[in-house]
Formats: sequence, C-alpha cells, structure tokens
Amino acid sequence: MPRVSIEATAQAILNFNDSGLSLMEVSHRDKDFDAVMNQAQTLVKEVLSVPEGYSVLFLGGGASMQFCMVPYNLLEKKAAYLNTGVWAGKALKEATAFGEAIEVASSKDKNFSYIPKDYTVPADVDYFHITTNNTIFGTQLKGDPQVDVMLAADMSSDIFSRPVDVSRYAVIYAGAQKNLACAGVTVVIVKDELLGKVSRKIPSMLDYRIHIAEKSMFNTPPVVPIFTALQTLKWIQANGGVEGMKKINEAKAALLYDEIDRNKLFKGTAVAEDRSLMNICFVMAEEYKELEGDFLKFAQSKGMSGLKGHRSVGGFRASTYNAMPVESVKALIDCMKEFEAQK
Ligand code: PLP
Repeated sequence: MPRVSIEATAQAILNFNDSGLSLMEVSHRDKDFDAVMNQAQTLVKEVLSVPEGYSVLFLGGGASMQFCMVPYNLLEKKAAYLNTGVWAGKALKEATAFGEAIEVASSKDKNFSYIPKDYTVPADVDYFHITTNNTIFGTQLKGDPQVDVMLAADMSSDIFSRPVDVSRYAVIYAGAQKNLACAGVTVVIVKDELLGKVSRKIPSMLDYRIHIAEKSMFNTPPVVPIFTALQTLKWIQANGGVEGMKKINEAKAALLYDEIDRNKLFKGTAVAEDRSLMNICFVMAEEYKELEGDFLKFAQSKGMSGLKGHRSVGGFRASTYNAMPVESVKALIDCMKEFEAQK
C-alpha cells in the first residue's frame, strides 16, 4: 500500500474530517462519508477512463463473491471461461450453477505457467471471463483479448496497474487487497445496459441493479477500505495515473526478471511472454534445489518478507504491486547476488 494511504487512514480512524469521531464510528449515511463514496466512484472512473454507461460499486464479499454474482446477473444461457489458474478455475466452477459454462482453454497441463493463446470463443456466449493476472502462478494477460464478445474480468491482482479498454468489458471486478486498500471491499465496474436481461430472480444483495440504484449503499458498505481506496486512487492520479503505474511496474519487473535470468541459482516459472508484472515467481535452478530454504532464511535476514511462493508453485514469489518501491526490488536483487557470490 502507498504509505500516504496508510497514514491518511490511520488519521481518519483517530479523527475523521476533524469531526472528533473515528471513521469507524460515523454513519455511512453521514454527508462526509457520502462524499468519500462519491469521490471514490468518480476517481475509479477517471483513473480507468471508464466510458459513460458504466456504474462503479464498492461491495463486500471479496472477489470470490463476484464469481457467483457475475453469472447470476449476466449468464442467461452460456458463458466462456479461460482457465489460467486457481482463481479462474473457481470462477468457472461457480458459473456452472447458472448455465452452460465452457472452458475454452486451460493451461493446467503445465501448472498454469502460460496463458493459452489458441482458442475460439463461441459467438453466442453472454460473456468471456478472464483472470487478467494469475496471482499464484505469476502470469498475466498482456492486453484486452481480441474477441467478438463482451469480456468479464477478475482484475483482483492487477487493477490500476495499467490502462484497460473498459468499453470491451461487461464487468470488471477486483478485491481491493492488492493494489487499492485493505481487504474488505471489492470494486465492481459494470455496464448498465447489460443488466436486467437474465430471466432468473436475483436476491437483492446479489443484484447489481439494486446496488447501483442505492449508490453502493444498499447495505452498510465497508467504510474503512473505501476510504483507503480513495487515498490510493488519489496517489495513483498524482503519480501519472495508470500509464505512470505501467511504466514503473514494467521497469521494476524488468530489473527482477533480468536478475532471475542472469543468476545461475534461480529460474523463472512462467513462460517469458506471459510473465506477470505484479507477481514474479521463481524457483532454485535444478542443480541448486536444496538451497531453497537457505535462500529464504538469507533473504529474511536481509529484511525481506512474504517471499515464499505459493505451495502449488513452490520457490519464491515477489509481489511487485503498484506501491512497491523500486528500491525494494533492488534490495531483493542485491540479496540474490550476494547469495550467489557465497555459493
Ligand atoms: N482472484 C484473484 C486473481 C486473486 O488473487 C484472489 C485472491 O488472492 C481472489 C480472486 C480471491 O479474492 P477474495 O479473497 O477477495 O475473495
């Protein structure tokens, strides 16, 4: 998280807008919080250049709730899914409860180390669902797929890290806990005119139209992460917007991937063209496998944390989200070089 977001949130928890009350105590109907909600929605639109005709919501339930909310609202008969990892697979599984959910391609055969390219999306699907960044496996779609149907995207781990052509999407959703705020809120950007077309009844809490009509205040919204999200959106804007984020993210990732490719002890796990700019996964090279634990300990002794890879990939995962400074990436590279020099 950007330091400024954390500090502004800490201050608002102590004293929100000089009201003498904590952000945690004020009513979400309070005019000061209403202003936070409005500004946060407006800034999402500004930062991602969201065209007219889309609504922005801040909902509870995590990205996982969107796995069912998307098909609940948008899947009438058939939807297509690209299976690029654990989260993509979970989204697909939920959709099967609502209609025909087709897996158009999967990279499971190689432990999700690449993004499938050769697939056809049937023309008669209600949407094509993608997971733009695969947090666990360190792969990322490099642009909006060129298909003739509307896209639906889980952007939980790369939203606001680069520009997106929102007009190609029926819905975009993202749990806040990577590039935006603390856990507890999910940002949803949905195209209004596509709603209300399914024949099933939708429970109010899962109906996008009800949340839109109530300006994302149908029930008590998670006020603290929404406040934090607003601070992060301001920070993104002040730092060159999503174009600026993309440049910095590319530079950070290039430094680290270069070192992974150069250093004889390590190797990357994702195919080069699909490597993520957000989650950089690598393992020990075959002949140095037994050094994995030693490197983790060494890195920890140098102040690195959260470097252990997900159990389904093993090795290491360096998450280089928007707010991760280039200095931290350089510190990891120094650490890898120093460890190599000792071997
Ligand atoms: N989708 C992706 C790409 C994720 O990385 C995660 C969590 O890490 C999720 C979905 C699940 O998010 P949540 O825990 O908010 O349901």
